[in-house]
Amino acid sequence: MKLDLQTLKENAPVNIVNPVPVTVAEGDGIGPEIMQATLDILRAAGANIDVDKIDIGERAYLSGNSSGIDDNAWDSLRRTKVFLKAPITTPQGGGYKSLNVTIRKTLGLFANIRPCTAYAPFVATRHPEMDVTIIRENEEDLYAGIEHRQTDEVYQCLKLISRPGCEKIVRYAFEYARLHHRKKVTCFTKDNIMKFTDGLFHKVFDEIAVEYPDIASDHMIVDIGAARLADTPEMFDVIVMPNLYGDILSDVAAQITGSVGLGASANIGQHCAMFEAIHGSAPDLAGQDLANPSGLLLAGIQMLVHIGQPLVAGRVHNAWLKTIEDGIHTGDIYTVANSKEKVGTQAFASAVIARLDQAPENLPVASYPEDAKGIVVPKAVRRPPAQKMLVGVDVFVQSTDDVAAIAERLQTSESGLLKLTMITNRGVMVWPKGMPETFHTDHWRCRFEGQSGKLFNKAMVLELLSKIHDAGLDFIKTELLYTFDGEPGYSLGQGQ
Ligand code: NAD
Repeated sequence: MKLDLQTLKENAPVNIVNPVPVTVAEGDGIGPEIMQATLDILRAAGANIDVDKIDIGERAYLSGNSSGIDDNAWDSLRRTKVFLKAPITTPQGGGYKSLNVTIRKTLGLFANIRPCTAYAPFVATRHPEMDVTIIRENEEDLYAGIEHRQTDEVYQCLKLISRPGCEKIVRYAFEYARLHHRKKVTCFTKDNIMKFTDGLFHKVFDEIAVEYPDIASDHMIVDIGAARLADTPEMFDVIVMPNLYGDILSDVAAQITGSVGLGASANIGQHCAMFEAIHGSAPDLAGQDLANPSGLLLAGIQMLVHIGQPLVAGRVHNAWLKTIEDGIHTGDIYTVANSKEKVGTQAFASAVIARLDQAPENLPVASYPEDAKGIVVPKAVRRPPAQKMLVGVDVFVQSTDDVAAIAERLQTSESGLLKLTMITNRGVMVWPKGMPETFHTDHWRCRFEGQSGKLFNKAMVLELLSKIHDAGLDFIKTELLYTFDGEPGYSLGQGQ
């Protein structure tokens, strides 16, 4: 269904003056069909937006742009700062960078918000009470993309977690909970193992939670948290977590609501925001009018709240809920037991438009306060620097010798102030104490520590490295060991 501007003006509940510019990408596969359906509904409901279309994704990739996005598209995004994006296809084969990661990181979209709601009994699910929002940190963690092959046998991916990154996402999660009248925020980390990186995330969570006494808070180790989320999701309300866990668990959560076709996500930054369905471009359905446009439509509703049009958002959301409740379903959620009519993409859009002034009778009515706006994105505040003291150095060495031989050569490199105190292999202590059962790779972390009370400096580290080199050992990297305000800034060896 296409509507001309005149019809829209006549039917719109708000005047189309000063429309909000929005960048739109129709994407690949089912993208153009679900975008058409979504824009038809938004416009019919009176969304006051001025669409600027950009071409990104498969065509851009195949025309030789390995990032999938060109300068004109960036110009549009920087101008409008609001992006409604249909899924794109990443061509198979090497050399093509993930456009999603590029956009999120380039535009600083640090928060990924994914509401996962069950629509039982209208959409079949084993978890009818489920109503969880997952808030995933979007820029840090193992997604920094800093990877190295260090030896013949060992490869490394750096996990980077920053205090400003944790503060922004945790504060955002509590602000989100407050705005959406949520009762509890749960934090998932693996800080029993990663005491520094995930430990920081958990610590910042605890610090910020006390600023929100009206919202309950708790923490779970991510493995048991994930198990409970998959088994009893109704026990959760809002969950905040670092990037990798959030990537995996937000898909799990969306799937168990009943269909990934219903999932929407918002990517929010200080300057820009991007709204999209969580599913991909579904090439198997492309061009057949079969795809469910709901994920993109729900993303469009989040966008309307973000740009300050909450009444239109509520109008669309309730019409959509009524359509689902009336059993008008696309093939992905159609069941003989739960549905009344199987429809295609455009017919589904027409059914939503036909219900624009209706509300659901059984599902909870969506309500958006008139003054609801996007959350004011918290700014990270830089703390005064800690007092930092150099206390040692970890020298990483590649060798297939046995550990006693390596230790002997390293000890000949010791200076008066720096002594070899420990060697680990993949984190497990193997010298001066170790177990014969421990498997050894060709990658050794050799810890040299200064003698307590005696100051040493980086020049002495360079001298040590020079001696290790002269002893014929292949050092591959170093990590300096510091204390920060007297607290060690490095982990112990496992077994130490
Ligand atoms: P997919 O999400 O496209 O499809 C998985 C399954 O879900 C398919 O059976 C598909 O038919 C079904 N499905 C997906 N969306 C649906 C909808 N709206 N209605 C009904 N059924 C739907 O995942 P995939 O097949 O792994 O990926 C296909 C392409 O999409 C790949 O090129 C991938 O890189 C890309 N992708 C893009 C994004 C994005 O742009 N945000 C996200 C994920 C995957």
